Amino acid sequence: MSDGQIGTVVIGGSQSGLAVGYYLKQRDLSFVILEVSNVIWCTGFTWDYDWIDLSLPTHNGVPIHNRGIVDSCPGLYFVGLLFLYSLSSALLGGVGRDARHIVEHIVSTRPTGWASERAQRMAR
Ligand SMILES: Cc1cc2nc3c(=O)[nH]c(=O)nc-3n(C[C@H](O)[C@H](O)[C@H](O)COP(=O)(O)OP(=O)(O)OC[C@H]3O[C@@H](n4cnc5c(N)ncnc54)[C@H](O)[C@@H]3O)c2cc1C
Repeated sequence: MSDGQIGTVVIGGSQSGLAVGYYLKQRDLSFVILEVSNVIWCTGFTWDYDWIDLSLPTHNGVPIHNRGIVDSCPGLYFVGLLFLYSLSSALLGGVGRDARHIVEHIVSTRPTGWASERAQRMAR
């Protein structure tokens, strides 16, 4: 796309995802195929999770997490929630600190699951 944005995200990088990618490429559409071990939600601090159905333990409608790390679902993280860590978590000054914490956790827990191992096998 001319504005530099990716038009389509394909979730899953096996046969179906690669086939979709093939035809997107044929039509000269921009896309990225994701085969991931970790998902970090950075969707803002509103409490509306109607768009996704996840069986996660919640408190007052918010997934229970430890400084953005969802212990009940390894590989799932949040950045940008209100009071994720402190008052500044929902302010520009706190987002970088919280983001670094999540990335350091991901690095410290690698390898993180079947998806990364599978992706590594596919890359060989
Ligand atoms: C009125 C107001 C004033 C503020 N003033 C200040 C200030 O003066 N100083 C300060 O430090 N901070 C201020 N903030 C807070 C600051 O805006 C936030 O820290 C910052 O916006 C957080 O960024 P974020 O990326 O976490 O969330 P957001 O900026 O809300 O971005 C979330 C992104 O996720 C996308 N998204 C959401 N849901 C989905 C979905 N289902 N699928 C795909 N994409 C999705 C959205 O399109 C958006 O791009 C203010 C906030 C508000 C609301």
